[in-house]
Amino acid sequence: MKAFTRMNLHEKFLRAGFMKKYGGEFFSACCDKGIKFYFEDAYQSKTDHSYQVTRADFDKLLLDHAAENGAEVREETSVERVAFSDDQVDLYLQAKERSAGNVRARYLIDASGRNSVLGNHFKVKKTYDHLQKLSIFAHYDGMWREEGRAGTLTGLVRGIDRWFWIIPLTPARTSVGVVLDGEIFRRSEKSPEDFLEEAIAEQPVIARRMHDARRVSEVHVAADFSYRSTNFYGDRWMLAGDAAGFIDPIFSSGVFLAVFSGEACADALDAVLDEPRKAKKLFPAYARRLNRAMDVYLRFVDAWYTKEFIEVFSAPRELFNLPPAINAVLGGNIGTTFGIKWRMWVFYFLVWLQRYYPIVPRLTLVPKKEDLPNTAAPASVAIS
Ligand SMILES: Cc1cc2nc3c(=O)[nH]c(=O)nc-3n(C[C@H](O)[C@H](O)[C@H](O)COP(=O)(O)OP(=O)(O)OC[C@H]3O[C@@H](n4cnc5c(N)ncnc54)[C@H](O)[C@@H]3O)c2cc1C
Repeated sequence: MKAFTRMNLHEKFLRAGFMKKYGGEFFSACCDKGIKFYFEDAYQSKTDHSYQVTRADFDKLLLDHAAENGAEVREETSVERVAFSDDQVDLYLQAKERSAGNVRARYLIDASGRNSVLGNHFKVKKTYDHLQKLSIFAHYDGMWREEGRAGTLTGLVRGIDRWFWIIPLTPARTSVGVVLDGEIFRRSEKSPEDFLEEAIAEQPVIARRMHDARRVSEVHVAADFSYRSTNFYGDRWMLAGDAAGFIDPIFSSGVFLAVFSGEACADALDAVLDEPRKAKKLFPAYARRLNRAMDVYLRFVDAWYTKEFIEVFSAPRELFNLPPAINAVLGGNIGTTFGIKWRMWVFYFLVWLQRYYPIVPRLTLVPKKEDLPNTAAPASVAIS
């Protein structure tokens, strides 16, 4: 949000009609009631909202904004090859099956997302073997929502071997997805459409909201393989966003980390362009900052995949002010202050303790059949 303020974007977001998002809600699949958290209640909260966006519209707005502010934009043009020399870098471009010439630059920031142009070029991309997940998702119109602020929350439902997201995109449209080990989907031998529909129908929390819902998109399947580059910079290059690393999308940290790293990267390079000798200090400082931020989310994601996380999370106590600290990290505070750090340590300690000595009730994470509505499947499918 701070970066968007700096770039003067909030007014454009509101004009584009992006919904304000006030927080999130966590459900365990065996319980009806979710745990809501609101950004305004976070430890040292600086904002009460962020945004829910449809990515295509959001990305287009940012692209146009960059062009308006002087960036030269070339759409439908890809970087096919890069070549580095002592004091410059050459990018060889391709546009719609024909060469588009080359661009010569002093430095290159790679923001090519999971394509990781430089990560592959320098072979610095390392995957996390324990986070090789698969997402199956679609968009729905007419899904039931609570009124007011509660209706803007991102919902997460934790099942025993999978988790679901419910993300309001616009007042009418909702994204629903399931994330699980790819092997479970492959073994089912079902089509993505059948798999998603059946997975939703088994979850009372979601199925009950789907009574009047219509699927309005294809069902998409995306590999969610988490990875990180071993280096975030080199002599004439830096990595930002998913090109630097991607962490499981549970806590919606992807766009946050992309904006966070994009801004930090640009600030560092801006100073280096004026005084190249500053690279020695600023590039490693950038890498340390980004690694720290990624560590925060990676640790959170690792904990999420233990059953004890949702058990401890579902029984929040106002003990030591822990819930506001967890809330702060979920809201994009990367926990650099000691006040958040020690509270997170206590939270992880409780999650660890729960495994050996139940300090809060155990949860089955198995949905109760009697909670399912009679007709769980969406009423119709209309692909637009
Ligand atoms: C299933 C799934 C669900 C997700 N859900 C969420 C969520 O709810 N919230 C959230 O915050 N994040 C989510 N993420 C993560 C989020 O999408 C990414 O972290 C985010 O898009 C990263 O932004 P980026 O700009 O680094 O990369 P991208 O958004 O991927 O942008 C990369 C750009 O580079 C371009 N490009 C690629 N290769 C080249 C090339 N060779 N030459 C020129 N251009 C190139 C691409 O066309 C693209 O425009 C999710 C990810 C997945 C897989």
